[in-house]
Amino acid sequence: MITVLTGGTGGAKFVDGLRQVAPQEELTIIVNTGDDLVWWGLYTAPDLDSIIYMLAGKLSQERGWGVKGDTFFCQNAMGQLGQPIWFNVGDRDLATHIFRSKLLAEGKTLSEATSEIATRLGVKACILPMSDSRVETRVLTPVGDLSFEEYFVQRWYQDPVESVRFAGAAEAKPAPGVIEAIRSADLVLLAPSNPITSIGPILALPGIREALRENRSRIAAVSPIVGANAVTGPAGILMAAQGFAVSIAGVGDCYRDFLGLLVVDSSDAAAAESLRKTGLRVHCTPTIMQKPGDRVALAKSVLGAAKQPPPRAESERA
Ligand code: GDP
Repeated sequence: MITVLTGGTGGAKFVDGLRQVAPQEELTIIVNTGDDLVWWGLYTAPDLDSIIYMLAGKLSQERGWGVKGDTFFCQNAMGQLGQPIWFNVGDRDLATHIFRSKLLAEGKTLSEATSEIATRLGVKACILPMSDSRVETRVLTPVGDLSFEEYFVQRWYQDPVESVRFAGAAEAKPAPGVIEAIRSADLVLLAPSNPITSIGPILALPGIREALRENRSRIAAVSPIVGANAVTGPAGILMAAQGFAVSIAGVGDCYRDFLGLLVVDSSDAAAAESLRKTGLRVHCTPTIMQKPGDRVALAKSVLGAAKQPPPRAESERA
């Protein structure tokens, strides 16, 4: 059994590779909900939707979000009605938001609603939101305290970032099954997702880091940073704002207390050698997922490296 912690972009590409090398039934995917927002009065969960659409074979590969082949008639009509349209919602995608909001209004939890949507779309993997409580990633900038989607989508992550926080995380509980999925997995994988705003909110929930620390030899992460930059998006900016180096060493530091293995790009071989001297296991392999075959190759390489027995000293420490 494999448990994955993920956001919605780099994470969805990684999950696409995994589903092609491991049966979906053996995957449990714990998904960030810190980016969730109420949009046009509907509860919208961008990362959950990207992972569900990916596993259902519906994710738009060109855009990296939303449903493939979607139309935008409703969005255009909302614009004519004077409603905000900076967060893009296609017509088929809208059906998911309406259905989820209906289930929540009927009293279902976010986990229950997620399971129902995933099952109806034919997903066989177990998809768990990180929490049923509202946890909101807030990005403090000179223009104000922004939600993640305001910072990222509405304002194109142009504002300098002073800090990031996860409002509600300390009082929230992990969703049912989350801690068990971490504890019982043969392998826990942190996708190449943003360490601050995708993996960070999951780690901020009470009990998650403790569960991960129980057996570090089972925990592997794929770096979303190659060289001195994020492959896409603001991960580098946000890591720097939170005091981490923008490098594979910085990614290692984000996960230092529980990580057993860090998977980095082959181009980071020299940096990997220095990082190994600090005691961390580091595996080099091509990690840029441009073509569909790259995703499968990365998934295979990660599973292969994770199956290698850890060096003796490390297994004794775990
Ligand atoms: P979000 O919810 O949209 O922020 O999605 P994620 O956090 O899952 O994905 C964003 C992260 O994925 C960024 O930090 C990127 O650097 C990383 N990323 C995107 N594509 C790739 C890739 O092909 N390879 C690697 N290693 N990282 C990637």
